[in-house]
Amino acid sequence: MRTFLIETWGCQMNQHDSEQLTGHLLKAGLRPAGESESPDLILLNTCSVREKPVQKILSRIGELAGRKPQPTIGVCGCVAQQEGKKLLERSPAVGFVLGPGQNSNVGSALHSLRQGERSVLTDFDSELEVNYRTIFRKSPTRGMITIIEGCDEFCTFCIVPYTRGRERSRPFQEILNEVRHIVSSGLHEVELLGQTINNYQCPETGKGLSALLESVAQVPGLERIRFITSHPRYFDDQLIDVLSRHTNVSRYLHLPLQAGSDPVLRRMRRRYTRSEYLDLIGKIRGAVPDINLSTDIIVGFPGETEDDFESTLEILEEIRFGQVFAFAYSPRPGTPAAKYDEVVPQAVQKERLQRLFAVTNRISHELNQLQIGREVKVLIDGPSRRRDSDWQGRADDNRVVNFPKAGDLDVGDLVTVKVLRAGAHSLSGKFQRQLSNLRLPILENSSL
Ligand code: SF4
Repeated sequence: MRTFLIETWGCQMNQHDSEQLTGHLLKAGLRPAGESESPDLILLNTCSVREKPVQKILSRIGELAGRKPQPTIGVCGCVAQQEGKKLLERSPAVGFVLGPGQNSNVGSALHSLRQGERSVLTDFDSELEVNYRTIFRKSPTRGMITIIEGCDEFCTFCIVPYTRGRERSRPFQEILNEVRHIVSSGLHEVELLGQTINNYQCPETGKGLSALLESVAQVPGLERIRFITSHPRYFDDQLIDVLSRHTNVSRYLHLPLQAGSDPVLRRMRRRYTRSEYLDLIGKIRGAVPDINLSTDIIVGFPGETEDDFESTLEILEEIRFGQVFAFAYSPRPGTPAAKYDEVVPQAVQKERLQRLFAVTNRISHELNQLQIGREVKVLIDGPSRRRDSDWQGRADDNRVVNFPKAGDLDVGDLVTVKVLRAGAHSLSGKFQRQLSNLRLPILENSSL
């Protein structure tokens, strides 16, 4: 087996898992398949939080198993954790199944396969160990770093505590070393990752996220630090204080609300109330007035009445998020909410979702309009999705900014752009000046 390809579904955690898997496969002597090559090994790195991933993975396995020559398939991520050895039974082409806590064992799964043994590795270590030097980072602009894995919250709708295990935090000093390593390799931005990132606690010293951000913010050369995902009930005053004092700590904050009605929040087991959430937003905005807030909303949770839904619309009007990620509720097997009665019919979910998007798109558009005339700092991510003649990047507050290509700018450059137009989902403007540049080689033909 010489070549590989990774297909990745899901969130930043999954994308970062694929970066780790790539690093381990390279270390095991495999190389990414070229575009005209049939990969010997295909890893399906899956997510089961929102979509109907099991069906998707099964049909993908069927497609790949029918190829000639037939590749070996490795199933990784949340679906691997959830389905375990059933995936081996699905097709002889599936050579191994690796849960999200087992990325570093992909080499030994390959070794076992060469000995004729198909493995299912789904345990979680009690400590979170990451060998950051083996991670293959694909992005030429930002480096992702897992600081805490798993979740102890057990929200009633969510599969994560079952697929990613209990919370485990990495040592503070090791994270700091990884940040320095990333900056010394030339990246301007780090994105700290964790399901409940603000419940981070160093296993050696007990230090929390605010102390970590305080130290990370002082790493020379680091322009931006993002952290995702925060839970409202762990967002304390120290963290707000760090946000207000360090301008390189994100001007963007994703703070999932999920619903604006207390009875629904209780059934979701979110353990905060509508008014606690509103108070928290007031405190954050009081300390960091220019912060761009985004949130997650689940529409049509079991038992959600029209009044409950109206409460969600009201709170969205009151807070005015820059971006809202909203989804119709769908049950995840094994979660408490999957057994709830009072299912909201799909047609009602769909109608509510449309009403919600009408509100949130209008608000996003209005907030983006306020950016017109401002000069914003943009880190170039690549060509614009809409026009090849434009660059696309992110501003400090995570807004997407497009602007016509100018001079010899390239991916990874940090520039300023004057905002001239604003839509609901992005800004566009004119290049002003270059602040720094950096070009890193990108691994070709990887499907990470
Ligand atoms: S806090 Fe987030 S990851 Fe944890 S159970 Fe709730 S929704 Fe899932």
